[in-house]
Amino acid sequence: MSIQTLKSLADALAQKKTSSRELVTDYLGRIEAQNAAINAFITVDRDGALAAADAADKAIAAGSAGPLTGLPIAHKDIFCTEGVLTTCGSKMLANFVSPYDAHVVSQLKAAGAVSLGKTNCDEFAMGSTNENSAYGAVKNPWNLSRVPGGSSGGSAAAVAAGMIPAATGTDTGGSIRQPAGLCGVTGIKPTYGTVSRYGMVAYASSLDQGGPMAHTAEDCALLLNHMAGFDSRDSTSLERARDDYSAQLNQPLSGLRIGLPKEYFGDGLAADVRAAIENALAELRKLGASTVEVSLPNTHLAIPAYYVIAPAEASSNLSRFDGVRYGHRAAEYRELIDAKTPALDAMYLRSRAEGFGAEVKRRILVGTYVLSHGYYDAYYIKAQQLRRLIAEDFKQALTQCDVIAGPVAPTAAWGIGQMADDPVQMYLADIYTIAVNLAGLPALSTPAGFSGDNMPVGLQLIGNYFGEARLLNVAHQLQQATDWHLRRPDR
Ligand code: GLN
Repeated sequence: MSIQTLKSLADALAQKKTSSRELVTDYLGRIEAQNAAINAFITVDRDGALAAADAADKAIAAGSAGPLTGLPIAHKDIFCTEGVLTTCGSKMLANFVSPYDAHVVSQLKAAGAVSLGKTNCDEFAMGSTNENSAYGAVKNPWNLSRVPGGSSGGSAAAVAAGMIPAATGTDTGGSIRQPAGLCGVTGIKPTYGTVSRYGMVAYASSLDQGGPMAHTAEDCALLLNHMAGFDSRDSTSLERARDDYSAQLNQPLSGLRIGLPKEYFGDGLAADVRAAIENALAELRKLGASTVEVSLPNTHLAIPAYYVIAPAEASSNLSRFDGVRYGHRAAEYRELIDAKTPALDAMYLRSRAEGFGAEVKRRILVGTYVLSHGYYDAYYIKAQQLRRLIAEDFKQALTQCDVIAGPVAPTAAWGIGQMADDPVQMYLADIYTIAVNLAGLPALSTPAGFSGDNMPVGLQLIGNYFGEARLLNVAHQLQQATDWHLRRPDR
C-alpha cells in the first residue's frame, strides 16, 4: 500500500473525491485492524472524530475550509484534550480527563484537523523505546519484535503503519526525532519557545518542545504552521512574527553548506547506520550541497548534563501527582502523612509508589538527589555550566555551515526487552539528539535508507535558531530525490 500524505488527502478533499467522514472512517478501521498488534493508540475517540468529520464536511461544502479541514491526525497522550482521556502513559493518570485543550490541540482543531485519539508513549515522556508505558510497549511496524523508539513511539509507529497520516509528538531529548528515525517517518523538534507548552504535561520544562510527525517534510511544515505561534499562557513562548514553514520547501540546495560533526561519526556508530547516512549525504551533494567537517567538542558531556537537568526538572514537575491535586490515590492508607506512620502506609507515599512506574521513580530519585542541599552545586549547577558549553559548540559550528547533519541514533531499532534492564545503556543511545535540546535548537529526522536487517535509518538535520523552514526545505528536497520516506513496512 502506498503512503497517504496529508497533502494528498487534502487534495482529495478539495476535489471532492472523498469526504472527511469517509477518511476518518477509513482510518478508524485501520486503527482497529492494527492496534492489537502495534499498540500505538491508548485511546480512540470514535464518536468525537466522526462528529468533527461531519462538521468538517459541512465547512467544506460551505466553502469555509482551512488547510487542515477534515484531515485525520492523532495526539501524543501527553497533550491535554478536553473531554478525552490523557494518561501520559502512566497509571497515575489512568482516569484523568482534562477540562481544557492544550494550545497545540486547540490550534490544530481550529485549523480543522480531526483528532482520532491519543497515542501511546513512555510514561511522562521518559524513555527511548516506549517500553516505559503503563499501557504496554509499542511495537515497531517494520518488525514487531523491535522497539519503535521513544518517547513518542506511538505516534511514530501509528504513522509508519498507516494508522494515521500524521501525529503530534514532544521532544525533550530526542523523543520526536529518534522514534521518527527508527520507524522511517519525518519529525521535527522546533526551536525552544516556538510551540506553546500550555497543556502539554511537563517533563523537563526547559527542554520540552512539541512538534509534528508525518510521512513527509511537506506535511510536517503544514502542521507546524498551525502548531507554532505565541501563547501568553506559556511564559517561555516566544513573541515574534509567524514563520511560514512551507514557504521555502522548493528552494534549491545549491550553495547549502552542511556541517558534519566529527564526534557524530566516531566509535559507537553502527556501520550500517553510517553507510545509510553517507548515502543520504551523497544525495544531498548531488542536489548541490557541500559538506564540511565541524566539531562539537563537548558532545561527550551532553548525556551527563541532560541526565542531571532533566530529572531535576522532572522531580519538581511531577510533585503535583500526589493523589490529591492530581492522579491515582491509593485505595488503602492510614494517614495523609505522619512521621509516626510507617512510610508506605501514608497516602501520598503509597499513591505515588503505586501510580508511578520504575523509570519515573528512578528519575524522581535522581532529580531530588541532585537538587538537594550539599549536592546542588556539584551536580545541578555543574550541569547548567556544561549546558552553556554545549550551546557554544553549536554556535561555533554554525558559523562554518548552514545546517548540521548526522545520525539520529547510533543503531537502527533494537529488540523489545534488549536494553530494558540497563537504563544507562539506554541513556547512552540518546547521544546524538540530547545536545540539541540543551541548546534549544531546531532539528528534524528524515528517512535515510535502511540498516543491514532492513530497519529504517534516520538522518538528523540540525539548524540554527528559527531555522525550521530551512531544515524542512533540505528534507523536502531530499525527499523529492529519494524514495526512502515512501517505503512501507510489509504488513
Ligand atoms: N530518551 C530521553 C529521556 O528519556 C528523551 C525523552 C524525550 O525526549 N521525551 O529523557
